Amino acid sequence: VDARTTRQTSDNSPLQIFVKAKKKINDIFVEIEDYVKDAVEYMHEVEKLPEIVNKEKVKKTEEFVSKVHGIRDVLSRDHMKVAFFGRTSNGKSSVINAMLRDKILPSGIGHTTNCFLQVEGSPSDEPYLVLEGATEHCPVESVGQLAHALCKEKLSESQMVRVYWPRNRCLLLRDDVVFVDSPGVDVTPNLDEWIDKHCLDADVFVLVANAESTLMVTEKNFFHKVSTRLSKPNIFILNNRWDASATEPEFLDQVRRQHQERAVDFLVKELKVCTPKEADERIFFISAKEVLQARLAEQGQTASTPLTEGFQTRYFEFQDFERKFEECISKSAVKTKFDQHSQRGKYIANELREVLDDIYNDAQKIKEDKLIRRKEVHDKINYTEQQLIIVTQEMKQKIHQMVEDVEQRVSKALNE
Ligand code: GDP
Repeated sequence: VDARTTRQTSDNSPLQIFVKAKKKINDIFVEIEDYVKDAVEYMHEVEKLPEIVNKEKVKKTEEFVSKVHGIRDVLSRDHMKVAFFGRTSNGKSSVINAMLRDKILPSGIGHTTNCFLQVEGSPSDEPYLVLEGATEHCPVESVGQLAHALCKEKLSESQMVRVYWPRNRCLLLRDDVVFVDSPGVDVTPNLDEWIDKHCLDADVFVLVANAESTLMVTEKNFFHKVSTRLSKPNIFILNNRWDASATEPEFLDQVRRQHQERAVDFLVKELKVCTPKEADERIFFISAKEVLQARLAEQGQTASTPLTEGFQTRYFEFQDFERKFEECISKSAVKTKFDQHSQRGKYIANELREVLDDIYNDAQKIKEDKLIRRKEVHDKINYTEQQLIIVTQEMKQKIHQMVEDVEQRVSKALNE
């Protein structure tokens, strides 16, 4: 039984690290968006008090809404990207098909991939492809059709054809893994253009090598170029066609050891992208063709084929590769893609807080000023009251005296 089938239903694939992180970070941005919108609404309300909220602050806050919106937009399109390289016919398309558990990409003689092919999940139930620079959806129902569509178009090797495959047909596509198949590294001298156009945002590179021969200079050369453009790219090396070694079991261990040593040296000493221990987790001996056949037969798509000696071990090794690959790609993508978003989120939250703090402080200051002024007025009133009392008392006395005086004078006059 394919262990991954059980894994498929229980959803504990390492890819969930990315899927869950993406959901969580999106939820956080939904909240940030709410806060920013609330802040804008609030500012429009208090805009009538120009001494507290000036136009500049309102504008700044309004800009946060579109910034948060932009981040959410990019976030929704964030995915994990794996790019496959190797010489023609080493089995790149077969590896991708085996991982996707379906014959999606054309493979084999006459179907050499002569351009970049990207396979990604789509919400639509019908597969379709889109040529570079075009918007038209060309429906493809079968591999034959896809191969035909690719041959019909005069495509240059740096061009990208995007294949949109129904997400519900494949778990890896549902979980936002995007696959990129490349023309053979032996075919083209345009490696720099390839790297700039298609590789700079790849989270993982898979070198599909041929276990029947050693790593070639052209293959190594490509990865040397990649590692000058990207710091410590994640590279897996698949020694494909390992089933062919079953015919010569006496050399099996020796050949494996030799390939392993060379591949480790390449990753550790030449490219310096990992430690020897890490390199051991990056090199696998597999047969993509067998895995694909077994998986298609398991799904009832084809009749089962007789198994070659050692099939089970190679199959397990392929599954081991898939698990390590999923772990690596999801962790790497979380770091490279979401780190930027969370930095920006923090920045926006801080800026918004500063604006609101400013408003609060200004309002507080105005309140204090008013209190002081009120106190001053109060004091003045008190003083005036006191004065009035004094004046009134003085007046009273004076009047009293005057009355007495008048009385005296009147009585005196009367007496006289
Ligand atoms: P690409 O050009 O690198 O994409 O290579 P393909 O995937 O088209 O494979 C080229 C040919 O090699 C096809 O006929 C495949 O069936 C065959 N092939 C791929 N993987 C294996 C494998 O593991 N073992 C064997 N024996 N043949 C394979």
